[in-house]
Order: sequence, then structure tokens, then C-alpha cells
Amino acid sequence: MYSKKRKNLMFIVLMIAVLIISASTQAESVDPRTVPPHTVTIFLNPNGGSVNPTSVTRTSGTRVGTLPIPTRANREFIDWFRGTAIGSERITSDTITPTVSFIATARWADAQRHLSPWARPARTGTTIIYIPSFSDVNTTWRSPMIAGMTTWNVSSTRVTFRRNDSNSGNSTIAVLSSSGTYLGQITRWRVSGTNILSRYNMRINTRTITNHANNNNFSLSNVIQSVFAHELGHVLGLRDGSGIHLGGFCCGSLMNHARNRNNIRAPQPFDVTSVNFIYN
Ligand SMILES: [Zn+2]
Repeated sequence: MYSKKRKNLMFIVLMIAVLIISASTQAESVDPRTVPPHTVTIFLNPNGGSVNPTSVTRTSGTRVGTLPIPTRANREFIDWFRGTAIGSERITSDTITPTVSFIATARWADAQRHLSPWARPARTGTTIIYIPSFSDVNTTWRSPMIAGMTTWNVSSTRVTFRRNDSNSGNSTIAVLSSSGTYLGQITRWRVSGTNILSRYNMRINTRTITNHANNNNFSLSNVIQSVFAHELGHVLGLRDGSGIHLGGFCCGSLMNHARNRNNIRAPQPFDVTSVNFIYN
């Protein structure tokens, strides 16, 4: 068995060999749009993670379009860079494919970068977080919201949400149809001079969530669950994800706005690690 480091090194050496062979036949400084279109290969270096497939082909002079999304334990994928290390040449879906094959290297965010200065004081052992019960909300919305809450409760964090109006302070959770563009929104207050979240007003927008589900052919209850679980991530002290929309749905975090809300509707390993920085 080779170590991961050794494997990464072997990958880079192999790719450099491939590039030297292909670069010897073509100059790289030409505008790719002025040479006859031909197929080039983009080798994907997951940089400590994994990706499938490990390479893709494109036609030179055309847009790169959507690239595969790599995964890595406890990290959030941000974007692809051209070269074997993170540099200045970020690859987006609008990048024009050059005339020679190249390596793209994944950039990752670590979990600590994911925290906002809004958290409840952690206690020894499990921290119970009481939230408003939203018992007046009809079942179509309430059931997936409870499911979203449960995904946090069964995750490997030391926080547990409980619905309880009398213990949830002055915080509110409203399910309403708003003309605002948001799907879910939270306004937070903290105890003056501290990072302790004192209360919040959460709004779940029935209008935009219904449209989002219809427009993408998603299950309405999946989208409701994803949005509510995301907002609860904010209640815990997470901030919105830093991943970039690469032309498709993106990234292994509940806190990413480009996530696929039909699939990512529970905290991902990255989110759990982030929360465990606060409540550990
Ligand atoms: Zn958010």
C-alpha cells in the first residue's frame, strides 16, 4: 500500500510527464480560439480528496463548462485552479479551454473558516437548544421542518434541538409568503460584547421555496427540509458556504447556497466538523 502523500506525488509526476509530451508539440501561449479546435484533456488533481472521473476532455477554444465536484473528508470544495498548486488561474465554467492538456487542482476550505461569530455557549456534554415549536404551521411544511431538525439531532454533534415555545426565549420562526427573493432568512442578535447568540427571527418563504421546487423538479418537502436545516445551521453558529457555483449544483455542505436542495438536506461531514469546533 502506498501512502496518500506518495500517491499524490505519483499522480503529479505522471501528469507532468503527460504534459511535457503534449507541450512539446504545441505552444501554449497562442489564443486557443485562433487554432483549429481539437480535443484536450483536463487532469483533475483532487489535492488530498477524491474525484470521479479523474480527467475530462474538452474542445480547445470552447468554454470549460461544468467540472466534476471532488470530495474530501471534513473539507468544503471551493474551486479548481490551473496547475499543480493553488495559484491565480481559477477555472470557472466560462474559462476558455486552452490548446494543450493541463492539470486542475482542487482548492478546499477547512471547517473553521465556516464559523460565524454567532453561537450559544457550549456546555459540558450535550447542549440542548430550544427553538420555537411552529405548531401552528400546517403539516405540509411542519413535517419536513421537523425532519430537518432531526437530521441535526442524529448527526455526530453534541447539540440537540428541541421544540419548546416557553424555553426558546424571544426567538421566532415564521413560515410565510414573502415577495423577498430569499428561501430562508435569519436575523440574529447577540449579547452585547460577546459572541453569544441571544435571539433570532427566522423566516421560511413559502413562495420562493415552492417556485424553487417546481423550477428544478425537486420534491417540495425535500427543499423545505434543506432550507430549514440550513437555517438551523445558522442558529448553531455556521455561516454561509464559500463554494463557488461552477455551472451546476455544488459542494458538500448544507450551508452552501449552490447545494442541490433535493439531495443535500442534512448536515454533511464538513458541517458536523464545523459545529464540533463550537460545541465539543
Ligand atoms: Zn444562509
